[in-house]
Amino acid sequence: MSNTNGVDGSSVPNGSSETRDGSQRYLSTRGDDYDLSFEDVVLKGLASDGGLYIPEEIPSNVDWQSWKDLSFPDLALEILSLYISPSEIPRDDLKGIIDRSYSTFRAPETTPLKHLHDNLYLLELFHGPTFAFKDVALQFLGNLFEYFLVRKNAGKTGADRHHLTVVGATSGDTGSAAIYGLRGKKDVSVFILHPKGRVSPIQEAQMTTVLDDNVHNLAVTGTFDDCQDIVKALFADPDINSTHNLGAVNSINWARILAQIVYYFYSYFSLVKSANLTIGDKVRYVVPSGNFGDILAGYFAYRMGLPAEKLVIATNENDILDRFWKTGMYEKKPVRGLEAQGGLQVDGVKAHEDGVKETLSPAMDILVSSNFERLLWFLAYEFAAIAGMDDEWNKKQAGQEITAWMKQLRSNGGFGPVYQDVHTSARRDFESERVSDSQTVETIKTYFNKINYVLDPHTAVGVTASVRSMARSNVPHISLSTAHPAKFAGAVELALKDEADFSFEKNVLPPEFVGLESKEKRVTEVENSWQTVREIVKKQVEEELKA
Ligand SMILES: *Cc1c(COP(=O)(O)O)cnc(C)c1O
Repeated sequence: MSNTNGVDGSSVPNGSSETRDGSQRYLSTRGDDYDLSFEDVVLKGLASDGGLYIPEEIPSNVDWQSWKDLSFPDLALEILSLYISPSEIPRDDLKGIIDRSYSTFRAPETTPLKHLHDNLYLLELFHGPTFAFKDVALQFLGNLFEYFLVRKNAGKTGADRHHLTVVGATSGDTGSAAIYGLRGKKDVSVFILHPKGRVSPIQEAQMTTVLDDNVHNLAVTGTFDDCQDIVKALFADPDINSTHNLGAVNSINWARILAQIVYYFYSYFSLVKSANLTIGDKVRYVVPSGNFGDILAGYFAYRMGLPAEKLVIATNENDILDRFWKTGMYEKKPVRGLEAQGGLQVDGVKAHEDGVKETLSPAMDILVSSNFERLLWFLAYEFAAIAGMDDEWNKKQAGQEITAWMKQLRSNGGFGPVYQDVHTSARRDFESERVSDSQTVETIKTYFNKINYVLDPHTAVGVTASVRSMARSNVPHISLSTAHPAKFAGAVELALKDEADFSFEKNVLPPEFVGLESKEKRVTEVENSWQTVREIVKKQVEEELKA
């Protein structure tokens, strides 16, 4: 892909070309909410016009090459400083927040890079407290919330204190990572809704064995989608919003994307050193994707100068992203006509039924990818800039396009095909691969037999896509490993049960998980009703505030 950040002098627009150091502001992808501080964006989560927050400028002309020998936390400090004005968080304070966030990781390199074979490297992102990549962002977000609240509440007592009520839905991973990021934090209550009996036993235990007073697990009689609908209803409810400051921890929160930019650069430098490359050599990144948050961070890194030849999206059978890259249509269900033309036949399977398909990689089981809206904004902005008006006009155009597309998504279940230029830009920077459950299982088997390494099913989706991509490109591939295999015992056992040398206890289970399921638990069962959940939230927060 051509480099769009101006480092090599190419001319794709990037807003103004200078980073206005010290004054990063944020706007909504839908255009009506703008000129916000980082703090506002983090505490609000979702913009009031329904859009997602993005930085006004992606820092360009960044001297990223000089970061080569930095430790993970020091690198994080450099990168995050470009998006958080020192007038908002002084550099020393930011350093403290970052250092605290990554001190909880078990690996000294925080996110180590492992050579698998040939040109393929695995970026292990699961060495945080809950053994999933979401810890990288949520450890940081938890400390960030704490920092803002301590500052807001200095010298205040009782009802004057700003209290944050975090409400989130989870199919497993987000919930436990959020709980570990927020447990015991002052002035924050956290409510995590999970579908009762539908998260893996280990994930359920990870969440419900956290007994801090500010942590509340709600097991909802229903599906993950029901949980998400309840959370959405709460965020839209004037009643609870008039009395509570609701906070979001899912990947619509900009701070999560931001924290994830770091490991794209860090793994690049690790690779350069271990494989004796020259800085500037191109690399491909392959990312198991659901809500598009992880790979979007890669896009920001690329726009800042990271020498990514392509970013490769790996989806499971919930393949809305893969279909967009192939057809330019973004829709929950495909158009009949296209399917008849064979354009949407993938792996010989008609992949598109109603609703979400349950797969072996559940953290990627999504109908629509919320963060895709952020990428679309940048593509629409680039498209608007072709007309050559001023920056303000381009931003306004982009916001209008996004608003129209999202309206169609809501009312018709999809939109597109997008403008040819927009699709071309998307294909310039990204490729996509769709991986079925049976291929996921095959890959887990292959890597266990070939190199005695156990991949979790999400990582296996990425590795399968990596192998396909390696047939097209001979640059080194960094495949992101998003979870430890012990979190997804069912899929791993399914793949490896017949292998003679395999034992879950011996090959997979980390000591931290031993006995977890029999520890004391705290969880409240609730019916599938957002009003009921609202009353529980109000009551629990009231009790916490009294305590
Ligand atoms: C959340 C998650 C993903 C998907 O990441 P997105 O940012 O939603 O694309 C992939 N794998 C695992 C294990 C996850 O928890």
